[in-house]
Amino acid sequence: MTSGWLNLKNIPSEGRDFLFEADAEWLEFVSEFDLKFRLPVPLQMEIKIIPQKKGFYVTGKLGGKAIFECDRCLEDAEIGIDYAFDFFEQINPEEQELLGEPLLRYVDDHFELNIFQIMWEQFLLSLPVKKLCQESCKGLCPKCGHNQNLGECNCSRESGDPRLSIFKQLKINKG
Ligand SMILES: [Zn+2]
Ligand SMILES: [Zn+2]
Repeated sequence: MTSGWLNLKNIPSEGRDFLFEADAEWLEFVSEFDLKFRLPVPLQMEIKIIPQKKGFYVTGKLGGKAIFECDRCLEDAEIGIDYAFDFFEQINPEEQELLGEPLLRYVDDHFELNIFQIMWEQFLLSLPVKKLCQESCKGLCPKCGHNQNLGECNCSRESGDPRLSIFKQLKINKG
């Protein structure tokens, strides 16, 4: 599929299923967006496109895995992708130009759907707000940068939890 546009000319009224896989071309397409990730297995998108009077109804599912930098410790965070979506893409919406990358275009005598862009948008929507290596990731020590998942650093032994030191003081004052 060159440039990621899918010809919608011969899709029957009951719709048609497609399967797309993130390939080198898609990765090239998304490399302009500033998001670092790797795909340990190919990202797959199943979609069904159903022509309607005023546009196209699109329903689909995105599946795979992506590896990001953990938001807390910067090690690899593998995120499972299993995301269902559906939307209606209207023919000739007047505001289309304002919304950035169009999902639908008319070429010669047929419509085309921007598969690369759809895959990118749904990929972004599928991601969790926090990308973590594990739910309980302890992150990096704010003082020395030590990965606290690998054990405590010297900083935590020396100063301890600042909230605890208040209790220590209280005890001393009482005594
Ligand atoms: Zn982590
Ligand atoms: Zn430390």
